[in-house]
Amino acid sequence: MTNVNINCKIYKCALVTFVTDLYKLNSLIFELMKNLKIDYSLFKERNLENRYLPPSLLKSILRSNAYDFSILGKSFQGEEIFLITQGSGKKRILLWSQMHGNESTATRAMLDIWKFLHSTHPMANHIKHEITIDYIPQLNPDGAEKYTRRNAVGIDLNRDFLAKQSIELPYLMNQVKKHPYHFLFNLHDQRSIFHPIGSKHPATLSFLSPSFNKARDVNLVRENAMKLIASMTNALKLSLPQGIARFTDEFYPKATGDNFQNLGKSTILMECGHYPNDYARNQTRVYTFYALINSFKAIADDSWQEQKITDYLSISVNNDKAYDLIYRNVKVKNQDRECSLDIGILYKEKLVDNQIQLKAYITEIGDLSDCFGHKEYDAHHQIFKAEESDYPELGSAANFKLGDKSVENGLLIIG
Ligand SMILES: [Zn+2]
Repeated sequence: MTNVNINCKIYKCALVTFVTDLYKLNSLIFELMKNLKIDYSLFKERNLENRYLPPSLLKSILRSNAYDFSILGKSFQGEEIFLITQGSGKKRILLWSQMHGNESTATRAMLDIWKFLHSTHPMANHIKHEITIDYIPQLNPDGAEKYTRRNAVGIDLNRDFLAKQSIELPYLMNQVKKHPYHFLFNLHDQRSIFHPIGSKHPATLSFLSPSFNKARDVNLVRENAMKLIASMTNALKLSLPQGIARFTDEFYPKATGDNFQNLGKSTILMECGHYPNDYARNQTRVYTFYALINSFKAIADDSWQEQKITDYLSISVNNDKAYDLIYRNVKVKNQDRECSLDIGILYKEKLVDNQIQLKAYITEIGDLSDCFGHKEYDAHHQIFKAEESDYPELGSAANFKLGDKSVENGLLIIG
């Protein structure tokens, strides 16, 4: 990178690498903290501001604290899969995360929650008295190590329920058989393309009470999961306006949640997503913390039973029309022919020296008037030129010129 002043370099780095000291919570989260009388900063597990959470880091955190954990089993590559238990109540719930290895937000929130429940906060005591909580904080440690969705041999654990060919998923399936769990929480991360339909805010949290059959029938098992989701979203909607979505409920016969629901276990799918300018998902982690604690409280109090299914059904449906960046009104010219178009750019995450870096790629070209970017730039009909081509190419790295300005890794270099 040449001819770029120092301010541009700082700006670019802040977005491309996760710079932890820029992490500040938004004011709505502070309001939520005050309302619930839970100061998140007291319970935040340190050293987890990076999305890369390899099994060695998880292991060191578990071993250096008072966690009551056991080894559920070992992954294909011999990494331990942990089961943590907390509380002594008659009601029992199970949460698991990172069945997709590169989806660590809920694992990070889980460790914060454990710290909160380990405290003597009155709500923590109440929850522990009413509920026994089992956590599997990283079902796919091999994927977590490599920062990949799938396990070491390329199996998507969330599509392995029928084939049972992964080593890891059967540990979860056997655990579910051990106790008459009241609720199961299937915790994931979702991409920054998702947003509630009609909103230009990313879907920071998305939920689903999965279908148990093709007809998408609603029985009591599914209804209970809907009510618990309504409890969480009602508690958070003022703190996350326009940032909560609901997945559509097509039946996925090989998926984990759909099958547990079919086995009579009320299952909540929760996806931690993007929050504006928060690619490290630290704001999302805090929202996840409060959403889950709220659900625990609702289970402890049985207050979820008073929720309405219509509240669940009124959560905006998730749509996928967001890009990380959009350049609008880009002119492409060849001799006397020219046209104007929009360029949609998405980041791909890459693990480099144990840090996640964002690499920007052109993923759509043309009329993106029905889409939005988390950042948008109007090119004002400046002419596109890349090193290799005079035309934007799908799948190419987002490095190009717009007139005399440069775009590097998706970002307009000003100065
Ligand atoms: Zn996932």
